[in-house]
Amino acid sequence: MAAATSGAGRCRLSKVGAGRRPPPARVRVAVRLRPFVDGTAGANDTPCVRGLDSCSLEIANWRNHQETLKYQFDAFYGERSSQQDIYAGSVQPILRHLLEGQNASVLAYGPTGAGKTHTMLGSPEQPGVIPRALMDLLQLTREEGAEGRPWTLSVTMSYLEIYQEKVLDLLDPTSGDLVIREDCRGNILIPGLTQKPITSFTDFEQHFLPASQNRTVGATRLNQRSSRSHAVLLVKVDQRERLAPFRQREGKLYLIDLAGSEDNRRTGNKGLRLKESGAINTSLFVLGKVVDALNQGLPRVPYRDSKLTRLLQDSLGGSAHSILIANIAPERCFYLDTVSALNFAARSKEVINRPFTNESLQLHVLAPVKLSQKELLGPAEAKRARGPEEEETGSPEPSAAPASASQKLSPLQKLSSMDPAMLERLLSLDRLLGSQGSQGTPLLSTPRRERMVLMKTVEEKNLEIERLKMKQKELEAKVLAQEATDPKEKENCSPITHRPLGRRTVTVAKPLKKAVVMPLQLIQEQAASPNAEIHILKKKGRKRKLESLDASEPEEKAEDCWELQISPELLAHGRQKILDLLNEGSARDLRSLQRIGQKKAQLIVGWRELHGPFSQVEDLGRVEGMSGKQMESFLKANILGLAAGQRCGPS
Ligand code: ADP
Ligand code: MG
Repeated sequence: MAAATSGAGRCRLSKVGAGRRPPPARVRVAVRLRPFVDGTAGANDTPCVRGLDSCSLEIANWRNHQETLKYQFDAFYGERSSQQDIYAGSVQPILRHLLEGQNASVLAYGPTGAGKTHTMLGSPEQPGVIPRALMDLLQLTREEGAEGRPWTLSVTMSYLEIYQEKVLDLLDPTSGDLVIREDCRGNILIPGLTQKPITSFTDFEQHFLPASQNRTVGATRLNQRSSRSHAVLLVKVDQRERLAPFRQREGKLYLIDLAGSEDNRRTGNKGLRLKESGAINTSLFVLGKVVDALNQGLPRVPYRDSKLTRLLQDSLGGSAHSILIANIAPERCFYLDTVSALNFAARSKEVINRPFTNESLQLHVLAPVKLSQKELLGPAEAKRARGPEEEETGSPEPSAAPASASQKLSPLQKLSSMDPAMLERLLSLDRLLGSQGSQGTPLLSTPRRERMVLMKTVEEKNLEIERLKMKQKELEAKVLAQEATDPKEKENCSPITHRPLGRRTVTVAKPLKKAVVMPLQLIQEQAASPNAEIHILKKKGRKRKLESLDASEPEEKAEDCWELQISPELLAHGRQKILDLLNEGSARDLRSLQRIGQKKAQLIVGWRELHGPFSQVEDLGRVEGMSGKQMESFLKANILGLAAGQRCGPS
């Protein structure tokens, strides 16, 4: 079983689940046997193929008439099966993937005259897969995009044929051979292909019916209106989220009526018809090689060897939910074609696709400079895209874009040389930066490497913001919990009025020092003498910077990472209080001082009895053997402690 190894997997940055390998979806294969049709050769034959059950069939073995060849598929539809059976059984189930932003494709394969066009298009009496799918899809998009639903939906259609290895726009037959391109996300696109918006089935018919007349058809002996080309109807479903994060999704549905594999001896083709057959056979031959390469897991899959396979790169071993309907005929004259169609179908069912959701952010910035695929290409590429015929005839340029997007957005970087997916990401990033207050446009002017660095930085910043938000929430929860458990204590002791954390301008960097509680006494003193200043030491790394604050907003500042430098008045006052305590306090009173325990308190009392009263606080150093620094910190701690004691109650 082959894993799909297409170029489609190269860069899928803006796709959902990028980085993860999308789950596989095997190409589904159904076989449809048409009934005998009046007017075809061998109409009175006995059938050479017959169904066994809803999944399998058998065909006579031409090498050994005693034996039959048996095949099993995902579904087998016999002569009596209706258009509705095929549609409901094999096609309808994959339509929902379009609304998930995934691609889907339906391919009708088989020899000419076996019923491919009947299956895909049908007739007014027996409409086929195309009208049924369009009807349902439009209905689905109307429901999903209704008012009040999260997404708005729009549908567009394109219709093309591949005729003799040329891609022709059936909605605009004047356009020449179009080029098939692949963007960096592995999406196949055709620059310059007409896209018509459709909102109803009538809209669809208005575009589709005349375009079908443009199909290159000719008469052969096998089929009066044998399709000589591969016809591809492309229906795009575009979804935009109404609310943030304003995602955007695009799902593509390919409905493909392949031309049949011709046996020139039987069709009696000559001249041009023979040439057409050759081209058709080449395409289908490459299709077979592609399927084989996918099955064998070969590193190179020859998608580019024909236009058909290049276009189907999305659909075979690519990103689509695919269903192949192999049409076969019962007549003996079809025997060899039937066997080869069944063999191809059997090989196709081994192919594994990896569908993914094609999702990105909406580009509001693109609104004034909406880029068509033509505009995204440079002039040279656009010319190439129009094909050699147009280049030769020098047909006039399509109406010029009002203003080149690249001129508007960047003087340095040509948008035309940029991959559309990359452009899309850059623009959304640009919008993001713009909304955060930075000037968005310079980003588009920066060289590629710097742009990458910027993009990475923005990504990291966003992560950091998320992390900080989480932390803030945690802190808020903690504060609330604390308030709930001990409201009284907070009321009595905390001089800081807690404001909701959300309103603070919190620096979450690790604080250098805890906030120092401002003594009430000091606040009262400052209130009494408004000119008094509190000096605060601000710590920044190792450097210290002296700043002064107006006393009118002490609480505001206390919550920051500041350390108080005690004013001389407070220091003198405090020293006196400590001295009084040293001279008059009992051992118990002395223990209320910071850093004085039971043992030290008794030592002080003993020293006082022996030497008389302390003349200054520093005398304590003689009892304790304190250094100058230790003494300084002892004083600071106790002065603040005493002041705080006064604020909170008796010490
Ligand atoms: P293809 O596109 O493969 O060349 P067509 O779809 O044109 O073949 O079918 C050939 C003929 O057979 C048409 O006249 C078509 O109406 C008829 N036909 C094909 N399939 C069926 C079917 N399932 N039931 C009735 N008629 C069918
Ligand atoms: Mg046909």
